[in-house]
This record gives sequence, C-alpha cells and structure tokens, in this order.
Amino acid sequence: AAALSAKLADPATPQQRKKVAVIGGGLSGLACAKYLSDAGHTPLVLEARDVLGGKVSAWQDADGDMIETGLHIFFGAYPNMMNLFQELGIEDRLQWKAHRMTFAMPQLPGEFTSFDFPDGVPAPLNMAAAILGNTEMLSLLDKVRMVPGLLPMLLEGQPFIDAQDELSVKEFMDKYGMPETVNEEIFIAMAKALYHTAHSPEPTLDSAALDFMDPDRMSMAVVLTAMNRFINEADGSQTAFLDGGQPERLCAPVVDHVLSRGGEVRLGAPLAAIEVGDDGQVACLRLADGSSVEADVYVSAVPVDVFKKLLPASWSTMPFFRQTEELIGIPVINVQLWFDKKLRSVDGLCFSRSPLLSVYADMSTCVEEYADADRSMLELVFAPATREVGADRNWIGASDAEVVAACLGELSRLFPGEIGGEGGAELLKHAVVRTPRSVYAATPGRNRYRPSQATQATPVPNFVLAGDWTSQKFLGSMEGAVLAGKLAAEVIADRAAGRAAATSQTLKPVHEEVVAAAEGA
Ligand code: FAD
Repeated sequence: AAALSAKLADPATPQQRKKVAVIGGGLSGLACAKYLSDAGHTPLVLEARDVLGGKVSAWQDADGDMIETGLHIFFGAYPNMMNLFQELGIEDRLQWKAHRMTFAMPQLPGEFTSFDFPDGVPAPLNMAAAILGNTEMLSLLDKVRMVPGLLPMLLEGQPFIDAQDELSVKEFMDKYGMPETVNEEIFIAMAKALYHTAHSPEPTLDSAALDFMDPDRMSMAVVLTAMNRFINEADGSQTAFLDGGQPERLCAPVVDHVLSRGGEVRLGAPLAAIEVGDDGQVACLRLADGSSVEADVYVSAVPVDVFKKLLPASWSTMPFFRQTEELIGIPVINVQLWFDKKLRSVDGLCFSRSPLLSVYADMSTCVEEYADADRSMLELVFAPATREVGADRNWIGASDAEVVAACLGELSRLFPGEIGGEGGAELLKHAVVRTPRSVYAATPGRNRYRPSQATQATPVPNFVLAGDWTSQKFLGSMEGAVLAGKLAAEVIADRAAGRAAATSQTLKPVHEEVVAAAEGA
C-alpha cells in the first residue's frame, strides 16, 4: 500500500497533467481523486447526493443524532485504508478494540463467548491460540478437522483462494471433510462481519421481490480471503470503529486534500448519461441538470447496479462491459435503536448469531461521538430473509415498524430481561436505512466477472473503472473500495506518464463464456 502511494506521489515522474472527471463520491471515487491529485492530476468528483460517502454516508436527524447508512468496522488487515488514514494524519480517529471476536450464544440467552487473540504472539499462532482457547464453540475434534481445509491456503496462498471462488462454502467443506459446526460457528459469522453477505439474493435483476439464498451458496473465496489475512497478519482480525460519522471524520479530510491540490468535489451533481463520440470514446458526461462536463479521462466509481444503467448502448455489447451483467448488489438494511437505559454492553463488535441480524454494536459504548453513559444506541445490520423467516419475505420492502419489531424480537433474546417487559429498556426512537443494492453478491464464481480498473485501450482509452466491485483482492468492502480507487488512479497516472502498465494493472481477460455470448448476440 505504501509503495503504491509513493509511486503515485513521486515528483520525479514526468507528468502530463490530466483533468479527470470521477463519477461517484463514495470511498472509491474519493480515494481515486486523492491519489490522482497526489500524482499531479486535477480530479473533479461528481457526486449525485448532497452527502459524501455513498455506502458510508451519514447525516444528522432533527435531534442532531447521526443516522448512518451502515455499521462499519475497520480491520487491521486493511492496508490501503490504514495507509490512507496515515497519509491524511487522522490515524487517531480509529478506535481500536481489544483483539477478540465476541459471539452471542444462542443456547444461552444473554451470554457471550469469545476468541481472544493473545498480545505479542505472532500470526498464525495468535489465531491458533484464540481458537484453541475457546471451548464453548468448537470441540477439539472439530478444531482438528478444520486443519486439512486450511492447510492448502497456508501453503499455496492467493492462487488457492482464487480457485475456491467456484465452490460454495458447503461444497468446500464437503470436499475437505470439515465439520458443519465450523461453518455455523465461525465461517458464516466471519463472512457476515466482513461482508454481510451470508444471506444474498439470487443474482438476477429481474426479480422485483428479492429472493435470498441459502448461506451455503456463498463463495468460499469470501471466507478464505478473510481467513487468509487473519491467519497471516497478527493484527489482521483486530477491529476498529471510526470515532464518528464517516462523511465528516474520513471523507472531509480526503476532500480537503483534493481541494488543496487544485481538484474539485461537487455534491448534488448526478450523472444522467455518459456520452460517446464517433470514435467510441467518452465525449463528455451529461449531468441530470442538462449541463455537460468534459475531461481528459473519465472514471466511473458508482456501484455496479448503477453502472449497468449508465452504460452507453454502444458499449453494452462489448464483452468487457457485458460481464458486469453477472454482478448484482445485495439488499441490506441498517437499523439504529436508541434506548432509554444503558444495556449490558460489550465494547466492540458482536456476532449476534441470530437468523435476522448479522452483527451489531452498542455505539454509545464503542464510538466517541455517540458516547452516552446512561443510554444505549444499538446499530445493527439486518441481513434479511433467511429460511427461518420465510425465503419470500421481502424485508427491504417491509415497513420500518415491521423491521424494528423484528429486531426487537431478536434483541430480546440477546438481552433477556433488559429489553422490553417490566422494567426493561424502552425504545426511544429508531432509524432504518435501506440500501436496496449494496456490495455485490459474492456467490460462487463471481470473481471472474469483476472487471479490471483498466478498460480496453481500444476503443475506450479515456475511461477507467473504480468501485469496490471491480477486480481487487478485497471483495466488496471499504478496503476494496479504497484499493480500487487507488488502482484506477495508477492506471491513469501510468498512461499519462507514458509508463507501461504495472503487472497488476493490465486488462483482465474476459471469461470465455461472456465473449461467446457477446459474439452470439
Ligand atoms: P459507494 O459507497 O456505493 O459509492 C458510490 C457513489 O456513487 C455514491 O456516493 C453514490 O451516491 C454515487 N452515485 C451513484 N449514482 C450516481 C450518479 N448517477 N452520478 C453521480 N454519482 C452517483 N465494508 C467494510 O469494509 N466493513 C464493514 O463493516 C462494512 N459494513 C457495511 C454495512 C452496510 C450496511 C453496507 C451497505 C456496506 C458495508 N460495507 C462494509 C461495505 C462498504 O460500505 C462498501 O464496500 C464501500 O463503502 C463501497 O464504496 P464505493 O465507493 O465502491 O461505492
């Protein structure tokens, strides 16, 4: 991460200063703009909404409380994100928690168990100690039976992980004889914490009602990607919370950085169309207000579902762009609940292990800006529609009252006697934020359809892709978004400097299935 930053900021690089229009002011678009400005270019970020951050956006309600799009957790294994914080001089805004993973115990309401990672012990021994030290979740036999599945990952690394993208978690576990308890107790919780994707929709845009898939259909690469970083980096699985809302605490410093180097960030500037010239390249961007923006290079940093809608008709048959049809965002609901009392809370992320909720945290304990010694504010990611609640239940279309009632039902199990009932904490207010299409659904086989940031030199050399869904090793996450933005900046900087593309930056070949379908169309 630091080496790429240094390459981009190298003043010795011969420059042809480029004006670059970046569509989307989420973390990916902002990171792209930041690194473009470091490389001596002039970015102009066009963000549709009046708030920065996209999936990390947040705003104040009438009481001045922050409403967040999502509960966001930073991991030690986020090198590009950590690097960005350092470069902006805001590392102290990350509130690191004790290195442990805390799980609710469904059989023992109100009880928690944890994997405690010992300090000062190198990876992967610290993880081995954390798993061996917990006797409440896995038997010794289960722990031993995990080894054959994890050994190839340790020995072969990333190529092995990439190959497992074709297998679901269930298929992988059967192949390596791993016990089901490992899936239930660890893998699902871990994937939920990292990507909230354990309950994902079928990858079809046609279904208006959102179908949700069985967790067994999640790609094993999701779990192994996380596992690999956690196993190889002593602090990889340690978690941090930002000390307040992301637009102000993280996005604003990026914007200041961009502005100080001559760039521009426009809010309330939704793109209506990418206009293509006779040569097939981008001629200009047409904004919703009818105005147009011309630049030397254009970057799309919008979510994949938006990108598919903006894709110019003349590009849509090109295999490189056509492959995006195979990617689709997952519906996610973020819920914040303010209570009139302080609940027995844990200072960190909790894996609820409930059928409706994935992870949650008491933000009044975990986050400085939301600190309250007398009242709890729980923030939860509602990972909807498991089989337990009926596969055809469309939670994203359910009313706020229904979503909140379902959360309270689950929470009364996690906090028996503390929520609801005689003397229990009363709900003061709530906020429900729906993201109908969030990170792409990491179902088996999706990685091969994720396009590189570099697009074809012919016919669209003036167009580059960013966004957490583009090809990079961190899947859909804040780290993935930042890395993808940084890689997009590298493509532009290399081309402007007349440098050969870095090895990681060459055009990713399109899967033969897509090419054949495009030729047949
Ligand atoms: P986005 O954030 O989606 O940004 C795209 C931007 O494009 C948006 O600002 C949007 O408004 C803008 N845009 C869209 N259309 C247009 C248009 N026509 N014109 C101009 N602009 C447009 N990741 C983690 O690492 N850890 C977590 O704990 C975590 N928790 C999450 C919880 C929830 C509930 C959700 C939804 C996501 C979570 N994520 C988490 C994922 C993480 O938020 C995303 O991977 C990341 O923020 C994506 O950044 P991005 O810039 O690629 O996309």
